[in-house]
Amino acid sequence: MTQKLLSVANLVTTFNTAEGKLSAVQGVSFSVDKGETLCIVGESGCGKSITSLSIMGLLPNNGEITSGAIYFEGTDLTKLSKEELRHIRGNKISMIFQEPMTALNPVFTIGYQIREPLMIHQKLSKREAHKRGIELLKQVGIPYPEKRMNQYPHELSGGMRQRVMIAMALACRPSLLIADEPTTALDVTIQAQILDLINELKEKLNMGIIMITHDMGVVAEMADRVMVMYAGEKVEEGDVISVFTNPRHPYTKGLLQSVPNVDDKEHQLKPIPGTLPNLNERIDGCRFHPRCPFATEKCRTESPAEFQVKEGHSVRCWLEEVDTDESVAVATS
Ligand code: SF4
Repeated sequence: MTQKLLSVANLVTTFNTAEGKLSAVQGVSFSVDKGETLCIVGESGCGKSITSLSIMGLLPNNGEITSGAIYFEGTDLTKLSKEELRHIRGNKISMIFQEPMTALNPVFTIGYQIREPLMIHQKLSKREAHKRGIELLKQVGIPYPEKRMNQYPHELSGGMRQRVMIAMALACRPSLLIADEPTTALDVTIQAQILDLINELKEKLNMGIIMITHDMGVVAEMADRVMVMYAGEKVEEGDVISVFTNPRHPYTKGLLQSVPNVDDKEHQLKPIPGTLPNLNERIDGCRFHPRCPFATEKCRTESPAEFQVKEGHSVRCWLEEVDTDESVAVATS
């Protein structure tokens, strides 16, 4: 079997709180290949951002990876020192955030901030880093890049700041880019431009991409594969066509039904009733059962097994047990 760019195995991430240890990610496994985009989708608080922060080693102070492994190019990141992880971050794995000001420092010029990683990780001289910085700004479609290098983040529009952040993330030609809701704060036209840009750069650099989003429209536009998370668990995963044409989990169906369809005037928007449980809420059985119209007694008491719908498409839902002979139960976590 060929080695994947990134393989996450049974990841468990917990937070130490006044109420005790709370699990934000519970036994999640997935992988990403070079040149592939995996979209992780779910409502706010489902664990998708914590999954990406766990990969980056950027969990808040009270968060920790309690078990599981994160193999990147064959190395388990959970076993690395902070220093070793810092070297990989920004060099081989980069992240872009929803709000560029999270990553951009308001008191330094764009030029300073784009030169820094190039001088630290790539050991370029200041002059070389400056030249490369201008090239990067050009590559992400920023007009007058020489002038932008001397400007401060507040002098740029939201869309331009997002482009700068992408340029910074790509500075060291990472093999993996993690994009956490990169377009949510932008208007639709700029959103489309940024998504096109990420797609174009993926092709050019053959990067693996993990795109975190709550927006099924973005998934349709970007994903090769999609992983749906609910309350810290993976509930469905498959290639984007299979999941969109044959969604199996009631939560995935709910997410798809809550997307507006401009081509279908008859399409009725159906929001998913109820809300995501809090981390400290104890729910036996399937964690989706309080919101699921199909819940049975078994769903209330037993955590669902993972069933394979077809190769590369799996789902955790007891309906599969009775729904189809084609589904095969695979190892449960
Ligand atoms: Fe609904 Fe039961 Fe499937 Fe959970 S396991 S999604 S409650 S049918």
